[in-house]
Amino acid sequence: MRVLRPFDPWNSPLCTCPFKYSLNPYTGCSHMCLYCYATSYIGIKESIPKRNFIKNLVHDLKRTNPLVPINIGTSSDPYPPEESIYKLTRRALTMLAEIGRKVLITTKGTILRRDINIMKRGNVAVTPTITTLDEKLAKMIEPKAPPPKERLNVISSLVSNNIPVGVRVDPIIPYVNDDNKEMEELVANLAGLGVNFIVTSTYKAKPDNLVRMKKGLGELGERLYRLYKNKGIKVQGYIYLPRGMRETLLNPIIKSAKKHGIEYATCREGLTTKDWFNAPSCDGTHLIPIKIKPKNKMEINLDRWLASEG
Ligand code: SF4
Repeated sequence: MRVLRPFDPWNSPLCTCPFKYSLNPYTGCSHMCLYCYATSYIGIKESIPKRNFIKNLVHDLKRTNPLVPINIGTSSDPYPPEESIYKLTRRALTMLAEIGRKVLITTKGTILRRDINIMKRGNVAVTPTITTLDEKLAKMIEPKAPPPKERLNVISSLVSNNIPVGVRVDPIIPYVNDDNKEMEELVANLAGLGVNFIVTSTYKAKPDNLVRMKKGLGELGERLYRLYKNKGIKVQGYIYLPRGMRETLLNPIIKSAKKHGIEYATCREGLTTKDWFNAPSCDGTHLIPIKIKPKNKMEINLDRWLASEG
C-alpha cells in the first residue's frame, strides 16, 4: 500500500478506533499547532503535496476492502492553504464519493466549504477540531489554522447541508484551554449549531511538543512543562497526566454534552465506561451515511483519474 494504510494510532494500546484506513494527501502541516503530535515523527514543515498521490491512491483503492472507512487527515490536515492550489483532497474526495467509499474527514481547515457539494453526494462525515472559542488563545496554540469563529461557520454550513458532523474538542491542555465555563460554553455553542457528537481528550505530551509549548506560551508554558515533568506518566512514548487529573479536565465537556443530549466519547484516555463514552464509535465513523452502495474492486474503473495527475 502506498498512500492508503491501516490506521496506526501511534501504537497506542488505549486507542478504541474501529478498523479504518488513513489517508493524508499532504505531508507536514501548515497549521503549525504547538501541540501537534505528528511533528515528533515527521518534523516541523509546511504542508507538502505527496508526489503521485492520485496515481498511488488509484493503486491502493484496487487493493483495499471497500467496506472499511477511510479517515482523511489523521496526521496532516487535508485542508491547509496549499489545498487551494493543489486540490489533492478535492480530487481524492470526488473519486471516493463516486465509488461509494465511506469517508471521515478530520480537519481544522475552512477551505473544506468549497467541497460541500461533493460531500453531499458521497458517504461522507466530517469531524472538525475546535479547542477554544477564544480567538487570541487559538492564535497562540494553533497559529496558522483558521480562527474558531470561521470553523464554527463551516460547521454550521455542514449541518445545514445535512452532512453529518461530529466535533473533536481536543486536546484539552491544563492551564491553557481548561476553563470550565469556556468549555461548557463551547459545547453549548456546538449543540446550538446542531452538532450531536463530540469526542474529547487531554493533551498527551511528546518531548518536542512539550518544549514548543514551554517556549510558546510564556508563564503558562512553564507551568505546563513543570506539571508534565513532575506528574506525568509515560505511556507508549507519550506523557499522560494521572487519571484523576485527566478526568477533572474532561469532566466539564462531558457534563455539558450530557446536558445538551449530545453523544460523547473520549480518545485514548482509557475512560470507556458510559460516564465517559456514550457513542457507537470514538472517532465519528458511526456518523458516515450510506448514500451510495460501495463498489467492489471488480466494479471500479479508476484509471481515467490518472489523467488528472499532472
Ligand atoms: S492541524 Fe493537526 S496535523 Fe496540522 S499542525 Fe495542527 S495538530 Fe498537527
